[in-house]
Amino acid sequence: MTIINKSAKEINKLFINKEISAKEIIDSFYKQIELIEPKIQALTSLTKELAYRQAEELDKRISKGEKLGPIAGVPIVIKDVICVKGFSATCGSKILENFIAPYEATATGKLWDAGAICLAKSNMDEFAMGSSTENSAFKKTKNPWNLNTVPGGSSGGSAASVASMETPISLGTDTGGSVRQPASFCGVVGLKPTYGRVSRFGLIAFASSLDQIGPFARNVYDAALTLQVISGYDPKDTTSLNVEVPDYISRLNVNTVKGKKIGLIKELMGEGIDAEVKKAIEVSVRLFKDLGAEVVEVSLPNIKYSLPVYYIIATAEASSNLARYDGVKYGLRADGAKEVLPMYTKTRQSGFGPEVKRRIMLGTYALSSGYYDAYYKKAQQVRKLVTQDFLNTFEKVDLLLTPTCPTTAFELGAKVDDPLSMYLSDIATIPASLAGLPSVSVPCGFDSKNMPIGLQLTAPSLSEELLLDAAYAFESVCNLSEKLKDKHAVGVV
Ligand code: GLN
Repeated sequence: MTIINKSAKEINKLFINKEISAKEIIDSFYKQIELIEPKIQALTSLTKELAYRQAEELDKRISKGEKLGPIAGVPIVIKDVICVKGFSATCGSKILENFIAPYEATATGKLWDAGAICLAKSNMDEFAMGSSTENSAFKKTKNPWNLNTVPGGSSGGSAASVASMETPISLGTDTGGSVRQPASFCGVVGLKPTYGRVSRFGLIAFASSLDQIGPFARNVYDAALTLQVISGYDPKDTTSLNVEVPDYISRLNVNTVKGKKIGLIKELMGEGIDAEVKKAIEVSVRLFKDLGAEVVEVSLPNIKYSLPVYYIIATAEASSNLARYDGVKYGLRADGAKEVLPMYTKTRQSGFGPEVKRRIMLGTYALSSGYYDAYYKKAQQVRKLVTQDFLNTFEKVDLLLTPTCPTTAFELGAKVDDPLSMYLSDIATIPASLAGLPSVSVPCGFDSKNMPIGLQLTAPSLSEELLLDAAYAFESVCNLSEKLKDKHAVGVV
């Protein structure tokens, strides 16, 4: 039986019904990894020891007649910025190359408790800074749809591993778009939850007021299932929200979008958006109307400030968060320095890559005395205006619709020397990050080069269920899933 092209839901069913053992499941995925990984380069390390331990345990429990939940037996890949106890967490950086996580992240702990199996850690832009995964210190991940193009970033490894069937689901992190943008480029579903919905404990920080862990999957149900498992209050994370988590999965139904009002954001359908992307969104609007939704144009006047605001806040927070990598507490320590200050300098000089250094410099500048008010404080004020725009708009509509990205996946190397044009990849994803809102990217079509296009839906705070309902309904009429399945296979073989 071919297992690698099955969804998480199907794999769980086969496992629960004892048609396949957990060990057989992971054997199949490791075989696919062996086959495809040399081309895709999505993973930084395999966690075989843990996977086989977890599988053995699950097989024992099932043979004893224990009742297991809806994610039991399902393999998952974890972005290398999230701590899995006893395994490396490189963050795509030389500075953490030999760092072994001393504790378990809350999100991954919940997955193991629910019976998911950890296959591997995935490649990423260094410290989650980037939009193409080319900033990884270790390797360049390829987009499974066209190996000359990037998978997006910073969670490019997580997206590419799902698209190339190395795993049915994965976890990424999204600070300004790093789940949604690579999901769009790789033709998979990627969801960023409301800020505070999923614990950040064990997620190595980039920009703490923005970072969120989110799932990738090949369909909306599997993304909802993963979100269900990882969500919830965690006293170990002071920004975690102490609110109940609704049942995301059992309500999924194609009729839920009927009567909903969807706002198409005018500012994100204009200049800079590729014509083919725009066309795919227009076709999607018609599908939403066929489903019984009303689609209206809305304007968020301050959204145009999102990108500069993000690059001040995110770099400022990064400069502070990354101060801890000094050769003393974690990871790399450069040899040869006789005193402490040169040791710090040497370690950071050799351990960090160019994009991380650029951001530390920008962020330190924005926070420095005399500039703090002009940059950091001003950026926080404008962030509030962007958030207020969303709040005002959600008084008139239930959901917002935009393209996920201005273009489809670009060629490897095309933007590495032009950070500003790289930053523009996130123009449509950053606004929801600034406002802390839940947002999902769902495949909605292909361009003329047969590269996937993603559509982004954004909902009010803590309304993931609305988002998932609409995405599920859209997915069922968009009818891409069979095409996507074939394409995934074609793209990598
Ligand atoms: N691409 C954006 C950046 O480089 C977003 C990154 C992210 O979401 N982690 O900062």
